[in-house]
Amino acid sequence: MSERKGLQEWTLQIDPEWGLRHMGKCIICGAFSLDTPNASEARDWCLKHAHATGDDSFKLMAIHYGSAIFAEPPSVNGTSPT
Ligand SMILES: [Zn+2]
Repeated sequence: MSERKGLQEWTLQIDPEWGLRHMGKCIICGAFSLDTPNASEARDWCLKHAHATGDDSFKLMAIHYGSAIFAEPPSVNGTSPT
């Protein structure tokens, strides 16, 4: 119970420098592309992989990178962190 409450002090901050990234993954063999800012590059990777291997099932993913930031709660019990 108290652990779950602690989660509220964490914030996930999306990193705007990275923006939305795209990635293709082959469902057949598990190979995947590098993530790219360009969705069509991810699709091209799938087509090239299909051409090279004959694998024909892919997953296209859009990715945000983020950082978990701990928000120091306002002093509640007076104990200061060391
Ligand atoms: Zn494959």
